[in-house]
This record gives sequence, structure tokens and C-alpha cells, in this order.
Amino acid sequence: MPKPLPDQPDDWTEPGAHAVGDGVHRIPLPLPLDSLAAVNVYLVEDARGPVLIDSGWARPQTEKALSEALRPLGYGLGDLSQILVTHAHWDHYTQALALRESMGARVRIGRGERHSIEGLDLTRTPHPRQSAALRACGAGDLADRVDAWPVTPEERAMPFGPPDAWLDDGDEVPLTGRHLTVVATPGHTRGHVVFGDAAAGLLFSGDHVLPHITPSLGFECVPEKSPLRSFQQSLRLVRELPDALLLPAHGRVAASVHTRVDQLLAHHEERLDAVHREVRAGAPTAHQVARALPWTRRLRRLDELPDQHRMLAVLEIDAHLEVLTEVGVLTWAHVEGVRHFAVRG
Ligand SMILES: [Zn+2]
Repeated sequence: MPKPLPDQPDDWTEPGAHAVGDGVHRIPLPLPLDSLAAVNVYLVEDARGPVLIDSGWARPQTEKALSEALRPLGYGLGDLSQILVTHAHWDHYTQALALRESMGARVRIGRGERHSIEGLDLTRTPHPRQSAALRACGAGDLADRVDAWPVTPEERAMPFGPPDAWLDDGDEVPLTGRHLTVVATPGHTRGHVVFGDAAAGLLFSGDHVLPHITPSLGFECVPEKSPLRSFQQSLRLVRELPDALLLPAHGRVAASVHTRVDQLLAHHEERLDAVHREVRAGAPTAHQVARALPWTRRLRRLDELPDQHRMLAVLEIDAHLEVLTEVGVLTWAHVEGVRHFAVRG
């Protein structure tokens, strides 16, 4: 049985360190994004110095907020012994690299992130693989706009590169009075990992299982071929572990990992059905399917979304079409560089 919910502030982004278990604190750090107000990092006590799980977006505001949250616990940034990171998205990984440069804390991240960490190249366009994929989805105009997005000097200066050590599925991280188990959960990114503390009934779920958001799929420098298939497999994997308190990277702590995993699995099954239905009804490309379906909880049309979200939406449909092809329901052929799908048989 999962543990009862700890007391939490009404607003999950309220600054400070919020106890969520014995020797475990949730620390929300602000993000420079319109769509996402904060990222939760977790502090886990250890005799060698506290361990952080995820780290925030590298910028002075993050360092200040983290330092202020550590102070009432009796720590400074220099006391951190290691930083375990769930995946290489900037809001999780980059502050760890900044702290490593300035304080020497050891940084570890899943080995599957290597493709995208080594593949980052901001010298040309910000998302070369995504724009190529959008063209194959029949969204050439959107791809042109994505290619034209500027890369700012701050983005070029973002700390990025390999960690001090890679984490593999099944690795144990021995800490004082507890063991964290690394579970590889590809899908949101190729190398995403979660950290389980089975004895305490806790799962540090990163962006794999979020309480209010359906995580984006394969949005990374070098995505894999079928991120939705990986994501579904990773959800089922986590569903087979004993239920635990959900400690997500965005949003409130929730009582049951299983409950939320069931909702996410059901969401994607419904979405697969809807995508299949639209292809049957005559929408041949990912772009056209995406235009036929409602988006967000407010059921908006694709063309009403800002380009960043529109890009993720079209690529998400592409991931659904890929799974429907793999299970033999759809086939596809190139028509002038665009993938055209049809019902099989
Ligand atoms: Zn992420």
C-alpha cells in the first residue's frame, strides 16, 4: 500500500523545501517557460552530503532559489554530494552541470541520454530532427517556422555535455538508510530513468509519470524511432512495481503511481483508437490527423496552438501512427517525401 499523502502547500510551486518523507524534501524551482511554472527537485539526506534528484534550469534565479531552500535544512550548495538526473531536458539537467562546475557535485544520468547529449548542435537550427520529421508528417510550413526560431546567446551558453557517470537500468544507489533503484523508463526521452525507494514506498518519477500533464514523447535532439511504444512499455513496467507515492518533477505529490499510470495508459489507448479512426476516415498524414483531433483539456484545434505545442502535437500523432503501423493496423508509403498512411488490408 502506498503511504498517506504528506501535507503539501495548496500551490505546488510555493518556494522552499517541503518534507514528503523521512529525510526527503520536495523543492520547486521556477522555470523561464510560459507553459510550465516550476520543476520539482528532491533532496534526499545522506551522510556524505545531501543528494539531489533533478536540478533545475541553469540560471542565477535557480541557484538562488535552491540555495534559499537548502538553508533552513542546514545546508549550502557546496554540501551536495551528488545529483541524480532523470533525463537531459534543460529544466532537469543543466543546473546540475552548472553546480558541478562551481562546486564539484558528482552528476549522474541515464545512459540512453548519450545520443541526445552528444548530438546537441545549436550552431544551425534549434530542432533539425524535429523539422525534418515535421516535413515527413506533411507539416512543411510549420517546419519552416521551426527552422526560423532564433537560438539565443543564453541558449548557446547553456551548460551541456556528458555527466560524471552514466546510470543503467537496475543500478542501485546506496545512501544512508536507503537504497535507490534505477529503472530505465524510455519514452519521454530515450534515456529517461526513475528512482525507486521500495522500502519507503517512494517513486521519484521525473517526467515519466506526471500527475496533471501527459508527457511529451521523444522531444530530444536525437529521438528514437518509436517513442510511444517505449513509453507504453515503460508505463507497464512501472505498473508492475509495488505501488508508491508519486514524486513527480512537475505538479503535486500524488498518493498512487498505479492510479496515474492507468490513466496515462488509457489516454494513449483512446488516442490510438482516435488516430486509427481518422486514418480510416481519410486523413492520410500525421498533420491531417492532428488537425482533425482536439487538443489540450480545453479541446482546442491544432491551428489555435502556439507553434511549439503544435510541433509536439504533430510529432505525438506521428508516434501514434508508428505504433499502429508496428502492430499491423496501418501501412504507409512516401508521397513526395511525406508519409501517407492507410488502413491495412
Ligand atoms: Zn522533460
